[in-house]
Amino acid sequence: MKVLLVPFTMFMVSDYIDYWIGNLSDTFERGGVSLDVDVWTETFTPPMKCFDWSRRQYYSPCILDKLFSSFKEILDEYLVIGVGYIDGYDTGLNFVFGEADPLHRVAMVYTKRLDPSFYGEGYDWNRYAERVSKELVHELGHLLGLKHCRDPRCVMSFSNSVYDVDAKTRFFCDRCSMKLRNMLNI
Ligand SMILES: [Zn+2]
Ligand SMILES: [Zn+2]
Repeated sequence: MKVLLVPFTMFMVSDYIDYWIGNLSDTFERGGVSLDVDVWTETFTPPMKCFDWSRRQYYSPCILDKLFSSFKEILDEYLVIGVGYIDGYDTGLNFVFGEADPLHRVAMVYTKRLDPSFYGEGYDWNRYAERVSKELVHELGHLLGLKHCRDPRCVMSFSNSVYDVDAKTRFFCDRCSMKLRNMLNI
């Protein structure tokens, strides 16, 4: 399975990318799927038309559309996932940590609210790195066809807050691993 990781910001991303790739490969390997991650070498600037000035957040469906239109030539080969230190929302939701469009094979992880500093808790390399790893795995799980899981330890469980993110692991539960292999015919 080939994945293209697209940085939307260098800040809070470039220092973590190697760690995230290691975690992604390890998690999927344990789930029985071998993952090949490439990184887009430029910073992908989100279009201002996706930015809501009153909320100071990006409208996530607009970002996903932009990823789809920008990378559609390679989407037969790659799953594309953006990652950036920005804040995103969707209709009816105050914010989203991430969002996936499995039909178009694109997803995005918004890392600003995964940063302990956002909650006045101070800089914490490990905690931020782990939270983002989990959300990257979660959105890739959606791209591969997985739905939310009721096991709170499973990476596919839905997170309402960073505390839910902290409570889950970056691993697929046995049921989700099995579903993953079934869907991929391996
Ligand atoms: Zn989800
Ligand atoms: Zn699960």
